[in-house]
Amino acid sequence: MPKELPKTYNPKEFEDKWYDFWRDNKLFSPKEGKKNESFTIVIPPPNVTSILHMGHGLNNTIQDILIRYKRMCGYRTLWVPGTDHAGIATQNVVERELAQEDKKRTDFTREKFIERVWATALRHQKSILDQLKKMGCSCDWDRNAFTLDEKRSEAVKKVFIDLYNKGKIYKSKYIVNWCPRCNTALADDEVDHRDKEGKLWYIKYPVKDSNEYIIVATTRPETMLGDTGVAFNDNDKRYKNLKGKKIILPLVNREMPVIFDSFVDPAFGTGAVKVTPAHDPNDFDMGKRHDLEFINIFTEDAMMNDNVPEKYRGLDRYECRKKVVEDLEKLGLIEKIEKHKHAVGECYRCKTVIEPRYSDQWFVKMKEMADEAVKAVKNRKITFLPKRWEKVYYNWLENIRDWCISRQLWWGHRIPIYYCNKCNNKHAAYEMPGSCEKCGHNELTQDTDVLDTWFSSWLWPFSTLGWPENTDDLKKFYPTSTLVTAPDIIFFWVARMIMAGLEFMNDIPFNRVFFTGMVMDLQGRKMSKSLGNGIDPFEVIERHGADALRYTMVAIVSPNQNLKLGFPKDKNSSEIDSFEIGTKFANKIWNASRYIMMNITDDFKQVPIDKIELDIFDKWILSQFTRMVDDVNKNLENARFNDAATSIQSFFWHSFCDWYLELSKSKIFSGNEKIKNDALSLLLFILRETLKALHPIMPFITEEIYQNLPDPKISIMIEDFPQKNDKWKNKDAEIKTGKFFNMIYLVRNIRGEMNVPPDKKIDILVNTEDADLINFAKINEKDILFLTKGESLVIDTSLTKPAGSAVGANDLCEIYIPLEGIIDIEKEISRLEKEIQKVQKDFEKSKSKLENNNFISRAPKDVIEKEKSKLKEFESTIEKLNNNLDILNKI
Ligand SMILES: [Zn+2]
Ligand SMILES: [Zn+2]
Repeated sequence: MPKELPKTYNPKEFEDKWYDFWRDNKLFSPKEGKKNESFTIVIPPPNVTSILHMGHGLNNTIQDILIRYKRMCGYRTLWVPGTDHAGIATQNVVERELAQEDKKRTDFTREKFIERVWATALRHQKSILDQLKKMGCSCDWDRNAFTLDEKRSEAVKKVFIDLYNKGKIYKSKYIVNWCPRCNTALADDEVDHRDKEGKLWYIKYPVKDSNEYIIVATTRPETMLGDTGVAFNDNDKRYKNLKGKKIILPLVNREMPVIFDSFVDPAFGTGAVKVTPAHDPNDFDMGKRHDLEFINIFTEDAMMNDNVPEKYRGLDRYECRKKVVEDLEKLGLIEKIEKHKHAVGECYRCKTVIEPRYSDQWFVKMKEMADEAVKAVKNRKITFLPKRWEKVYYNWLENIRDWCISRQLWWGHRIPIYYCNKCNNKHAAYEMPGSCEKCGHNELTQDTDVLDTWFSSWLWPFSTLGWPENTDDLKKFYPTSTLVTAPDIIFFWVARMIMAGLEFMNDIPFNRVFFTGMVMDLQGRKMSKSLGNGIDPFEVIERHGADALRYTMVAIVSPNQNLKLGFPKDKNSSEIDSFEIGTKFANKIWNASRYIMMNITDDFKQVPIDKIELDIFDKWILSQFTRMVDDVNKNLENARFNDAATSIQSFFWHSFCDWYLELSKSKIFSGNEKIKNDALSLLLFILRETLKALHPIMPFITEEIYQNLPDPKISIMIEDFPQKNDKWKNKDAEIKTGKFFNMIYLVRNIRGEMNVPPDKKIDILVNTEDADLINFAKINEKDILFLTKGESLVIDTSLTKPAGSAVGANDLCEIYIPLEGIIDIEKEISRLEKEIQKVQKDFEKSKSKLENNNFISRAPKDVIEKEKSKLKEFESTIEKLNNNLDILNKI
């Protein structure tokens, strides 16, 4: 029975319905397809710190497109969903929550605090999973994973213990980035470097037993209290005479050695460098090389500790800085102070300025693993898209330091190391050992630190498939296929997953990495909380539906470009709403489908294409269709999502709706049942196949329409993805119809420009030398008159222009449309003159605005740009109207 679609497209009526239907029918779980090959994606697990943002919107849409596409191509597809416990980040969120209640972490026991974090984590986790469902993500929910759940914890413990036993994990005193607010070590890449306006203090250090001074420069004068040496470049002749001498550290009166080291840049400052081994990573290395003393001067909160002279103890680092400088000035030991812009490291989670700190930490040896990870990409076992990210990847891996994996936090995987309370022997174990293996003592204590959050996420591609057990899932789905991720976690995550895969699975974790662009506002600024320019993807779904969100994102973005989006907070605002692109397309699909379906009657029978006698327009649309399908396949294979989206859109909107659907009307209303049935068969075929091609990008609307077409399968999701059919490629039909459409376009253009009322029929004269076109137009005269609302058509060589005609031309033909009696020429002339005056006024106004210095200097850049483009638009409108006026005046 033919069905009818509701009059208007309303995604709310069916999006949730279809999602539930797909889930209920288990369509997201892997099925054997005709390819006998797997296609697997593991989701980059969103952090349970909050709900999803637009970056997730883009990232997960792309993953779903790939999964749906490959499923329809006959692969055994699996998309593993999950979330990340996000150690430091989630702990911070909860600490901020507590601060609102005037409480802090240390008001709780460790267990109680963790309980509290779990509650927050699970709350966010639920919202995140709901959001992924809203977006249409076809994840296999039976395999949902969390980086801190039991299975993933087993994997983490195994990896730690194995690496420890192999000697690849070690504990060491080391200089680490320390956040004085979070009270934890941070990995190098957890530190954000920001240029700040600071100062450079030049301090005089007296040389012992002489009147000489050495001048050192520093941006952190308070750290001088921890200095244990002064260094020069080994080739610096200026300071040769200081060899073997001692320096007296002011304020502390410590005697310090002079050292010579190639690290020191003789051209920087005075060429003399103070050395603070416990509070600067470079000085740490020098301190090791020259066996200097390591003096820690800060507490965990960056207050001065008991290793500094009494008067400074207990001061915060910045208060201490002031006091130190004051005291040095009193002693006349400040040579000068200069303004100095330099990079300051901040905690990536709480933005507190970090302090390098010498402390006990756990490390993973990285060099060997990094070398293997470089090879995997160099040997093309893994490919990066876009390719430019390879360079960034190599650069980091080739300069890698050991990975500091201990964090002084409570939320996370606790380090599986147990210390004997008697002899302090270390045991790496899954559970608390019964007794010390060295001394037999039966009281042991677990290390209090937790592991860096990435220590669980780097195992994600195989821990989610059941590792360390040798599961069927691992056999079927590992290595996974494509990883879709934002480029900002290329080191944190992508590189480390490659290392972990090679180390623990002896195989790469994925074949391909697709790096998405950044999501920005219309002014090109990154979306951020502090700017308040973020867009909530779920508000977009609320207003436009998930299909419009998905289509817009992939249609706008290109592989090398970031994504610029606008979305007014207020529904009725006149600001740009980028997502209307998606809504408009969805409406177009809806209305065209609705029109086709309205013409299907009970006695309709679908005829196969090869049983239909095709005319040239049928041949042309099939040729266009097969080209589109070929394009879409190639583009989806190569992750050019925008090209795939625009290729479908342009085919459907322009070729199919604008031309073919119009042309088919003469057949549908021909009164001949066979002609009508054939025409509808072709229309339905192309509609259905185009819906299939579009399904990965717009899953809901395509399912809704598909289910209403005659004879649907269970779901469009499990239909075969359309493939090209070279038989249908028809260059001849494309050229001929191309000429024909261009001619009709000229006629329609004149109708529009000359304001010909829609109900007025016109006479058309076409002057052309092109025999093909003449022939073609004569055969299809009826169609031309139908498409142009024409009364008569004359097409020939050497026609002369009748008096009172409007003219249009392209490189093939000239069109004459006599306007006498069609429009009131006098009236049209005066209308145009008025219109020109009006636009002229707007033009003047805009022009004087742009000449006004006050406006130019005060208005924001984007407002000025907008004004400039308005001016251009006025200008071209005036030109066009003047041309039209010219034509009329010549009549
Ligand atoms: Zn912090
Ligand atoms: Zn012991």
